[in-house]
Amino acid sequence: MGYIAPAGTRISLLEVLVGLGVGIAPTNAFDRLQDELATRARKPLCRLVASGRAAMTTILQAMYEISPDRGRNEVIVPGYTCYSVPAAIARAGLKPRLCDIDPATLSYDPAALARFDFSRVLAIVSANLYGIPNALHDIEALAARNGVFMLDDAAQSLGARLNGRAVGGFGDAGLYSFDKGKNITTIQGGAIVAGPPLAAAMERHWQALDAASTVETLSLSAKMLVYATLLRPSLYGVVHRLPFLGLGRTAYEPRYPIARYSRALASLAERQYRRLDAINAVRTANAGRLRDALSATRGVRMAQLLPGAEPVYARFPMFVTESARRASVVEALDRAGIGATTSYPNALADVPEVAAMVPAQDLNTPGAREVANTIVTLPTHGYCPPDLAARAARVVSEQLGR
Ligand SMILES: *Cc1c(COP(=O)(O)O)cnc(C)c1O
Repeated sequence: MGYIAPAGTRISLLEVLVGLGVGIAPTNAFDRLQDELATRARKPLCRLVASGRAAMTTILQAMYEISPDRGRNEVIVPGYTCYSVPAAIARAGLKPRLCDIDPATLSYDPAALARFDFSRVLAIVSANLYGIPNALHDIEALAARNGVFMLDDAAQSLGARLNGRAVGGFGDAGLYSFDKGKNITTIQGGAIVAGPPLAAAMERHWQALDAASTVETLSLSAKMLVYATLLRPSLYGVVHRLPFLGLGRTAYEPRYPIARYSRALASLAERQYRRLDAINAVRTANAGRLRDALSATRGVRMAQLLPGAEPVYARFPMFVTESARRASVVEALDRAGIGATTSYPNALADVPEVAAMVPAQDLNTPGAREVANTIVTLPTHGYCPPDLAARAARVVSEQLGR
């Protein structure tokens, strides 16, 4: 039986081979991708790096460097986001602060944010999880009002827009990721976009980074061939129980290379980028079908989109309101060959490495805990069959219908 992977980008082996092959020969794909992303984000500078985490760490280091106040060493992050975010903050020598989210929208809880003491804050970070834009205009305005930087984390949102503006392009700097489960992928990779006043310092930091390691590039290229092969439902069904592709893994991991992106991988990323709109159209159409099929199901709630949001759905999130029944829903979907996940297993306040870094008052994030306890993500990628939504809805209502 086939198995639909929880996330991923549908890529042909030919595209991988041609992309990497072109990348080994001298081309300007690296520079072209930087130019395209800068234009998209309406920022003067884009620089490609080894990962989204590496992007976040270097952006924060540049922010701290140009900040006139050495005492500002705190970075506000949403109470529910990727564990890499607090890891990247710690790696930059800074302190994460947790602010609760609104479980309806997944964006910051405006009331919790309004109560926050900004006196030692350097920057505030968005999340835009699953390709769904946060209240980015509000975060941008709040950052400006409080004299702090804003970092627009678009690791899962390349192509998403809010009122016509690209996610990743809000605030002072943004980042994109080309990791395995992101909008486009080369197994690892990331991009920084930055505007004034940060761009000059950002460029200095990037110039000081090591070049991509050849051994690492070869290893990632080999993994890319495996990924493109195994993501197909017929083969993923055979291998998905092996931890091989690491699509489901979530760990707090502070060790990662901070280097520039490889030219070969950039060439493959640039090829995928050229069809980003088509990739996102498939994901958005699949998400629309899931929403239609599941929104009538008792015991399930959908994420609420903000006005003006154009999401790209790297995955489709839904919430099993009675959290005790979530595990059985995910297991039933898994038995039906549908790669459902419980996303990040914990609110950041409940990740021991993070809890150890934040003041006690930050641990009270009920909205983030609710999301962690009720969320289920469903796949949206190009290998989803046309009847996925109907099948998923049948499985979910069988589990919750009584
Ligand atoms: C994946 C992710 C990152 C980190 O990107 P990597 O390329 O995996 O290092 C940062 N923030 C969010 C929200 C992510 O999903």
